[in-house]
Amino acid sequence: MDTIRKQIFLKYLHLSTRHLNLKYVPKHDSCNSESISLLQNFINNHKSLFVLTGAGVSTESGLPDYRSKDVGLYDRSSHRPVQYKDFISNCEVRKRYWARNFAGWKTFSSVQPNSVHLSLAEWEKNNLIHCLVTQNVDRLHHKAGSKNVIELHGTSYLVKCLNCPNLFSRHSFQSLLLSLNPSFQVEEVEIRPDADVELNSELINSFNVPDCEKCGGILKPDVVFFGENVRKEKVFNVRQQLELSNAVIVLGSSLQVYSGYRFLSAASELKKKICIVNIGPTRADEIADLKLSVRCGDIVPKIELL
Ligand SMILES: [Zn+2]
Repeated sequence: MDTIRKQIFLKYLHLSTRHLNLKYVPKHDSCNSESISLLQNFINNHKSLFVLTGAGVSTESGLPDYRSKDVGLYDRSSHRPVQYKDFISNCEVRKRYWARNFAGWKTFSSVQPNSVHLSLAEWEKNNLIHCLVTQNVDRLHHKAGSKNVIELHGTSYLVKCLNCPNLFSRHSFQSLLLSLNPSFQVEEVEIRPDADVELNSELINSFNVPDCEKCGGILKPDVVFFGENVRKEKVFNVRQQLELSNAVIVLGSSLQVYSGYRFLSAASELKKKICIVNIGPTRADEIADLKLSVRCGDIVPKIELL
């Protein structure tokens, strides 16, 4: 990296560290120099990386995940994310979903990238990354400046019709929802990884949700819900990118969801070297060549770009 770019990068890194929010990061040891050397060597020896990121990367921006011990939503509440089949078959479920999503959108969409997102954008500029695949739907890699990102589970920033090709911005949908629900007011809320929040049933029942203006179809965020499959073409594309990469790095994912794990399984079959950085155990620990149980923000920004 040239000197000026490095200075700018370090300035942004410093700014992002000032806003570091570890409320939703599970207990962890600090990263030692040996771990940094191991990751540095892995990266020096394997250019053209396939990088897969998960919720553990976004927790440092203040977004909770589902599965982390003690701080994840599953451990802290009985709330479970909406299932695809319930969303498409039950208008009450849709009403509840959109009312909560509407209430959480302002906070969710104002979340900022952290030092890991910023570092990965720099890795991309330095041609270290062949393909960045994220399981997150928060657009934080885009906000950090990464250009070539595959959103495996879609994005909360788009809304689509389930009946026609209508696809539009979540921001413009917010304006529409506001115009249909002018008296809907919510106090400070805690957001969830998919922009969901907790609301009382009275508020939810009074919420108006529009249908597609082009065909009257059901509107859904362009996010792969639990119980829904990633489109075959997308899986095929990611698999092709994996084959063209030299090695795999997983950052901040327990790989419990099959849609992400399948690429680790494929990488192992393809004899690609695998490195995993995640505080807790993952489903792919046994097939990893290098497993570092550290916080991503404690190691990724410390990697020197040659
Ligand atoms: Zn439509």
